[in-house]
Amino acid sequence: MSALPPTSTVPARIPGARFIHSPGPTRVPDEVMHAMQRPMMDLMDPRVAAVIASCEAGVRRLVRSGRADVFFYAANGHGMWEAVTTNLSAPGKALLVAGGGHFSDSWAMQTEVLGSTVLRTPYREGHPIDVAAIEAALRDDRAHRIAAVLVVHTDTSSGITSDLGAIRRAIDAARHPALFVVDAVASLAAAPLPMDDLGIDVLMSASQKGLMMPPGLGVAAVNARAMAFSEAHPGPRFYWDWVRRRSDLQYRKFCGTPPLAHLQGLEAALGLIERETLDGVHARHCRLAGAVHAAVGRWATAGVLGLHCRVPRALSASVTAIEVRAGSGVDPEQVRSVARERFQVAIAGGLGPLAGRVFRIGHLGDMNEATILGALAGVEAALRVLNVPHGPGALEAAIAALSREPGGDG
Ligand SMILES: *Cc1c(COP(=O)(O)O)cnc(C)c1O
Repeated sequence: MSALPPTSTVPARIPGARFIHSPGPTRVPDEVMHAMQRPMMDLMDPRVAAVIASCEAGVRRLVRSGRADVFFYAANGHGMWEAVTTNLSAPGKALLVAGGGHFSDSWAMQTEVLGSTVLRTPYREGHPIDVAAIEAALRDDRAHRIAAVLVVHTDTSSGITSDLGAIRRAIDAARHPALFVVDAVASLAAAPLPMDDLGIDVLMSASQKGLMMPPGLGVAAVNARAMAFSEAHPGPRFYWDWVRRRSDLQYRKFCGTPPLAHLQGLEAALGLIERETLDGVHARHCRLAGAVHAAVGRWATAGVLGLHCRVPRALSASVTAIEVRAGSGVDPEQVRSVARERFQVAIAGGLGPLAGRVFRIGHLGDMNEATILGALAGVEAALRVLNVPHGPGALEAAIAALSREPGGDG
């Protein structure tokens, strides 16, 4: 068998399937695929309105908000960044991007290019968002120019999750009226995101990660305060405009034809999440993440590999970034390529400043104990093939972590 990818655009059939452990796109369950393959309907078919209403209600339950307006777009995460910032930008106002890694850098850059004034807080590699820096920036802003604080909950490039409750408290402590906006692309349906309890004004996400769907559907949940801001500041926007989309007319609600297949898929995905229960989904993500962290701890004993995240409580439930010691000569892209082409485990590489320094194992979405053990075994096999020094006992540590009593702390 050659290690080269097939040249045809039709992938070769892989016996037993290739495990997809990138932190997006993630595995799509059969139930979701089947729902997306249902026939198209004419837009006046009452079933269309029923699917949309079901998706809106399901998202409200997922973010535990009774009142938020829910908007869907045919868009990926970058599109949702633009949906949010075009609705919250206004002349004379600024947006404060909480520094947290590659994704906050990209969001800030995109927002600046669109013409908004962007302020940023600094971040330290390997650490979650600096909450005190947010509070200081807000206290300095006596004129209340800052309209919103933009926070990436889980930075997918580093596998670090920041404490949203602490950020909410910092905004309150500064007595600043800024809106609290959260990018939950990598954390929605993997970690709890009770929007109303956390005082989140806008929460945005995309379909291809915890929501277990193909890429292409964006979602935003927007509370009354954020709607009022958007209404009061009608900027140059049309497709993204929340005020225009807040309508019962489907053609207004979606600014054109709704992405029907994706909405049918989302309805099915939300149904799967509710059948497992939201608490069950979150607990499963914690359990599987714990197994990966335990395994990496053993690999690390040889001194070359280790967790990129320096703060154990900030380790993400969605994805783990494994850092390669500088100067060790280990190429994470080679690990990734051998794991995918020879052992059928697709993982992710480093992004932005972490390119060439980490590889990442995604553990969010449609996964279970067997898939996570298979993924760890495939990665370890790639480490062995490439003679990457790694300590023994990683699979045993993962099995031990998964064998503990649910809810126990042994
Ligand atoms: C994946 C991701 C994005 C970007 O999503 P795309 O669909 O690739 O545009 C934005 N933010 C976070 C936190 C992500 O994980």
